[in-house]
Amino acid sequence: MAKYLNLTNEYNKVSLKEAASYINNGKLVLFPTETVYGIGADGLNEQAVKNIFIAKGRASDNPLILHISSIEMLDNIANITDPLEEELIKAFFPGPLTIVLQRKSIVPNAVTANLDTVGIRMPENKIAHDLIELANTPIAAPSANISGRPSGTNISDIFDELNDKVDYIIDGGETKVGLESTVVRVINHEIHILRPGKITYDDLSKYGKVIIPEHILSEVNKNDVVLSPGMKYRHYAPKTKCILVYSENKTNLIKKIQELETNNTLVITNSNNLKNFKNAISYGTTLEEISHNIFKLLRSADKGHYELIIIEGVKTEGLGLAIMNRLIRACSHNYLKV
Ligand code: AMP
Ligand code: MG
Repeated sequence: MAKYLNLTNEYNKVSLKEAASYINNGKLVLFPTETVYGIGADGLNEQAVKNIFIAKGRASDNPLILHISSIEMLDNIANITDPLEEELIKAFFPGPLTIVLQRKSIVPNAVTANLDTVGIRMPENKIAHDLIELANTPIAAPSANISGRPSGTNISDIFDELNDKVDYIIDGGETKVGLESTVVRVINHEIHILRPGKITYDDLSKYGKVIIPEHILSEVNKNDVVLSPGMKYRHYAPKTKCILVYSENKTNLIKKIQELETNNTLVITNSNNLKNFKNAISYGTTLEEISHNIFKLLRSADKGHYELIIIEGVKTEGLGLAIMNRLIRACSHNYLKV
């Protein structure tokens, strides 16, 4: 049973001292960030990092992101080899951007899955920032969920799943963004998006040429060489069978969903389309609302014991690219474009 700290009503930095000492003692601490919750450990303690992989059941070839609270911390763990990396850090740190940099030897192999690079992010969330600062070490943290399941965006969704797997739980309420960070790597002075997120193609394009690999919206063959190992795995998935349906034409979209709908189906859709289906819930109307709500809805849909979940897709523009990247995987590539 993990120790539980509730910071949803009031927060001051001092209350995080105990959690920081847990990090310094090699323990696992579940903590909020602005993207999703993370399962954190001292990123320079190899055994503690290995325990994260065990807790999540995560494949050991899927590297972890190191979370930092200052640029001095970054200088200790990675090298900047391209001025564009510096520019992106200046523009987007702190915030929901992870940048993959050349690692320094102090970083344990368990963090990087033996790669010569390391993913680094500086969270904007105050609790995350203060926890890292108090622990005075980069915190390695993947999303808080058992591997393959939707990421945790609030404690009640993941409490039963992780309570006996971590040592300390910090409840900071619902996360702001609701989807994991954008992961980028600069190669030959071009920005490659390894995983889309809140920082969009357009946001990044102000700083250089941006490249989106094809597999962001399609299946990765187990033997394909991908820059981001995480893209290979089953991810974000509810236990119930899921189909994702998208059309630029609203009439076609509604018709297709009505065709697929059974008497025991849940449709997750835009607020404006709710009335067209037998049993539907809304994920909001804006892309921000959808990204904020989607993982929570996928988890609650599972509790309804439906035989099928049908999700309305969104246009792959702006934040829509990240939403579709997650939904396509949540639906195990059952994706109909009509
Ligand atoms: P998660 O921790 O669940 O948010 O996933 C982290 C994502 O970042 C995964 O898709 C990883 O494959 C990716 N990642 C972390 N470190 C690296 C790295 N050094 N090179 C490429 N991708 C990385
Ligand atoms: Mg994850």
